[in-house]
Amino acid sequence: MSVPENPPNVPAAGGSGRPLVEGPADPEHDPTASYALEPEYVERLTSRLLATSGRTVRVETPLTGAPLAHIPQSTDGDVEEAFVRARRAQAIWARTSLDERAAMLLRLHDLVLERQDEIIDLTVWESGKARKHAFDEPLHIALTARYYARTAHQHLDTQRKIGVVPALTRVEVNRVPKGVVGIISPWNYPFTMALCDGLPALLAGNAVVTKPDSQTMLTALLGARLLDEAGFPKDLWQVVAGPGSQVGTSIVTRADYVCFTGSTATGKIIARQCAERLIGCSLELGGKNPLLVLRDADLEKAAEGAVRASFSNAGQLCVSMERMFVADQVYDRFVERFVSRTKAMTLGASMEWGNDMGSLISQAQLDTVVAHVDDAVAKGARVLAGGRARPDLGPYFYEPTILEGVTPDMTCFGHETFGPVIALYRFHDEADAIARANEGEYGLNGSIYSQDGDRARAIAREIRCGTVNVNEAFGATFASIDSPMGGMRESGMGRRQGSEGVHRYTESQSVGTQRLIRFAPMLGMSDETYAKVMTANLKFMKKLGRA
Ligand code: NAD
Repeated sequence: MSVPENPPNVPAAGGSGRPLVEGPADPEHDPTASYALEPEYVERLTSRLLATSGRTVRVETPLTGAPLAHIPQSTDGDVEEAFVRARRAQAIWARTSLDERAAMLLRLHDLVLERQDEIIDLTVWESGKARKHAFDEPLHIALTARYYARTAHQHLDTQRKIGVVPALTRVEVNRVPKGVVGIISPWNYPFTMALCDGLPALLAGNAVVTKPDSQTMLTALLGARLLDEAGFPKDLWQVVAGPGSQVGTSIVTRADYVCFTGSTATGKIIARQCAERLIGCSLELGGKNPLLVLRDADLEKAAEGAVRASFSNAGQLCVSMERMFVADQVYDRFVERFVSRTKAMTLGASMEWGNDMGSLISQAQLDTVVAHVDDAVAKGARVLAGGRARPDLGPYFYEPTILEGVTPDMTCFGHETFGPVIALYRFHDEADAIARANEGEYGLNGSIYSQDGDRARAIAREIRCGTVNVNEAFGATFASIDSPMGGMRESGMGRRQGSEGVHRYTESQSVGTQRLIRFAPMLGMSDETYAKVMTANLKFMKKLGRA
């Protein structure tokens, strides 16, 4: 594992000119601490929060463990106030034209590209990820904003439907906004996860009350400010802060619809709460994603893809791979390439481009990774690469790790690690590989490497995952915003992206207008005659080929 030049524990200053300071203390909170971000910059961001409890939570950068900021915390009353403001704003917003809303999304598209350095810097400070993985965040928001702006009418215009009596029954379906959508998001992609699900909600005429994860509030608040700058009315997007079990619950008890991204355990709690209120929810949850290398795969491409599939964002990516099934015929040649690419990866705590992998976000994540690998090794798994924490690079660094010989009694066999750990398995026939890929409770993302696209797509239909990528790790589906993304089984409910990603935030309302005839006996006709006329009519319609 080669280590880049920037010295451990001292990230190089970012190149974007966003405000960074090396030493000033925040006397109010901790006179001895050195803060990585200017207090004025933090203040500008946190002023976008609705948080009056008087309590703050200190957040630290995973790059070094140094303090970053103190985040004001919200009360239940703040959440109530957020909903009051959001409902008021939504009533006006629902009457703005779709074109106006779409134009704001296009302005957001331009803004995130122009301000990408600031977004990336803040993301790296808060999450500790490598710069190249932080770039994926403005990229995904730009793609999402452009897609929904350009397809707004396709998804949301009133649509004519087939009336029961040709020419005499006119039926159309309106897409009515739900009202105020609650969005609860995780820390792993703090910019895009805080924003991407909200953009179609706004487009459809809703307001949003959002609670990002406490570890990455600043990046989410930057997103809120960019929405303001793009022209969205400020009250339309409310941000509150605090523990999920309190502030998250406060949101779920008031929202008209909930969009949750996070762990399966929390998703189940939220599903129960939504069921109790009879409101809808979409749940984007965990995974134990399989990658298949078929015997006809291009092994160089597969090895390159396998590295991205397993170690992007240090494996803290819902769609990254944790299980790899490799055809017997190519196993040794593939593994040699994959291991050698993994060992060549550069790790480091840096604001600059160049590293292949950054830090895990927290001690809790590091503890899970260490526990999973140590348990596997203690029970007989072999480490082909990595397998060690790297405190010399930063407090939560862990090497990209490849395991072989993982068995069902090991924790990492079926439990999501959400870290840079992949288990390799050999398979003899494809039916067996498919069956093993489908084992377990999850079903988020799969990947298949093969030079026979038709064959790979046929296998994809048998993989019980919401997305399957052929000759790519996850980008082919995740970045194609027209395609729905989400999980089968315990990986989730509902879909983000595509038409489903925006329709979830609407109620469909059918409006039928009847002319000339009515659905009852007419002109003195008896009920019996009416039934006969209707029966003849039904038979005739079928003959005509009508739906
Ligand atoms: P988590 O469920 O602990 O937290 C996610 C969010 O939910 C946070 O904002 C948290 O504050 C909030 N929360 C926690 N308890 C809550 C409660 N009782 N009520 C309401 N809100 C609550 O998830 P995590 O462990 O921090 O995130 C990692 C998990 O998220 C992994 O399992 C990963 O696979 C999953 N994830 C899934 C996707 C996807 O699109 N499918 C994307 C990113 C992450």
